[in-house]
Amino acid sequence: MRISQLFYQTLKEVPREAQVPSHQLMFRAGMIQQLAAGIYNYLPLAKKSLSKIETIIREELEKKGCQEVLLPVVQPSELWEKSGRWGYYGPELLRFKDRKNGDFCLGPTHEEVITDMVAKQLKSYKQLPWNLFQIQSKFRDEVRPRFGLMRGREFIMKDAYSFDIDEESSKVAYWKMYDAYTAIFNRCGLKFRAVDAATGNIGGDMSHEFQVLAQSGEDLILSCDSCDYAANSEKAVTPRSSSELSTEGMEAMEEIHTPAAKTIEEIAALLKREEADFIKSIVYIIDEEPVLVLIRGDLDINESKLQTALSANGVFLADDAVVQDITGASTGFAGPVGLKKKVRIIADYSVTEKQNMVSGSNKTDYHTAGVNYGRDYSADILADLSFAQPGDSCPKCSGKLEDHRGIEVGQVFYLGTKYSKPMECNYLDKDGKSHPAVMGCYGIGVGRTMAAAIEQNHDEDGMIWPAAIAPYEAVILPLQMNKEEVIEAADDLYAALKAEGVDVILDDRDERAGFKFKDADLIGYPVQIAIGARSLEAGELEVKIRKTGEKKNMAVAEVKSFVEAYLKVEKGIDQ
Ligand code: ATP
Ligand code: MG
Repeated sequence: MRISQLFYQTLKEVPREAQVPSHQLMFRAGMIQQLAAGIYNYLPLAKKSLSKIETIIREELEKKGCQEVLLPVVQPSELWEKSGRWGYYGPELLRFKDRKNGDFCLGPTHEEVITDMVAKQLKSYKQLPWNLFQIQSKFRDEVRPRFGLMRGREFIMKDAYSFDIDEESSKVAYWKMYDAYTAIFNRCGLKFRAVDAATGNIGGDMSHEFQVLAQSGEDLILSCDSCDYAANSEKAVTPRSSSELSTEGMEAMEEIHTPAAKTIEEIAALLKREEADFIKSIVYIIDEEPVLVLIRGDLDINESKLQTALSANGVFLADDAVVQDITGASTGFAGPVGLKKKVRIIADYSVTEKQNMVSGSNKTDYHTAGVNYGRDYSADILADLSFAQPGDSCPKCSGKLEDHRGIEVGQVFYLGTKYSKPMECNYLDKDGKSHPAVMGCYGIGVGRTMAAAIEQNHDEDGMIWPAAIAPYEAVILPLQMNKEEVIEAADDLYAALKAEGVDVILDDRDERAGFKFKDADLIGYPVQIAIGARSLEAGELEVKIRKTGEKKNMAVAEVKSFVEAYLKVEKGIDQ
């Protein structure tokens, strides 16, 4: 490719909403254009990198025996009703009607479609295992699409689904995919960690996320400083457990007038007490039933753990009318003592650790002090509902948890029969008995992986691509376009590198040397080869390695083998 012909432009200004480096740089380098919030056009440089990531994914999955399929983006509601998710997937699912008034959605994930497809073909245990994957656009109507390709509404995902006869073989499939993911992200040249993860809307009871380590990551990862434990903070177990309060020193309950103080912060300031002295009481709607959730005032409720503790399909905050109905007070004054209506109470262990706490009185403008777990109220369920924190002790050993920021680029889930059972994806065993297939599902955000590579690898001049997924591996920069011999040398080198299979681009634009160097750094080609008239006279070219900034003059004849060898090492290919 010659840059003069490339569909490409670089831009100086970036839009204000581009807050993270990958978004800013991809925008400046003319790799993406926004069509609508969270919806992007991928221009040639972006498409090339995406295709390379896709090729790595295909190669590694095929090594594990996965087969590629392609399923529709548009999915009929009937399948989602069958799995049960039509009711609780929430507003991320973009639903619409066709001209016959039939309900459809744009696929945010494909468990329903694939389980239905496999059910139509599965008969006998002899056919299994199967592991099917596709690379395709997904649509999720995210509340806050942001950070460019990191959190789009339409995005490219590789999704795979395994079908096995029992839990044991399904877990073999799971760990095979775990290994495939490790190989994929290694080949992409990324520094990452696989961590224990929550299962969210997808469900199931075992999951790992693959997290690319980067400052701008939205996820907090906690890892042990002395063993291999690592988990998303959503999932990481906290060091608390339920404890029994001693009755000694328990005060009597006392109602306090607290007008206009609703938040824990406001009321703590008003009563001159620590936030940790309070019981935070929040009403949720969980699978259509109101539930009161309690946690110590300085901690936050971890909705993912809440969902898991109740084996719920979804958890949502209750609106003011529900709060009023249950507590008899306006929002901000709920508490476990004296509720107007009986509801289920689930409490974090933290409220059992402390005496004489303060909570809402279920009476507008009032709080109650001297509230003690066990004496004044109890919970139907006590569980770990908080987020683990850096410095907490490791749940596996005596080490301490350290924090890192991460970008979730992939996730693997063991699903069991969550989808195969309701969708009747069954096989007959050798005695002719019917069983639901045991499933796993496995996603990789292809666009997010590309963005994460930039988040992890850039400097003030631009992107620094890992060679395996760079839009082009090398650029040739003829510095004087008015000199025949420079153009000729550039053309010759271009042909020679191409012949060796190097993915090379030639900057044949009639521009100043400084302009070309700047552009080359912005795009971040791993190898930059400058051809200047003066050094050419001495039979030399200048080769710059973008990653280290190192520059080397070398004889024209040496360049080809140097570039080839360098790229092989960078791509992790054995010599
Ligand atoms: P997140 O927690 O970031 O919202 P998720 O856990 O809901 O993501 P999965 O259902 O696990 O996402 O989807 C598989 C992969 O698809 C994710 O690991 C991620 O790389 C990618 N992905 C998910 N949502 C988006 C998005 N809005 N934009 C880009 N990629 C996404
Ligand atoms: Mg995920």
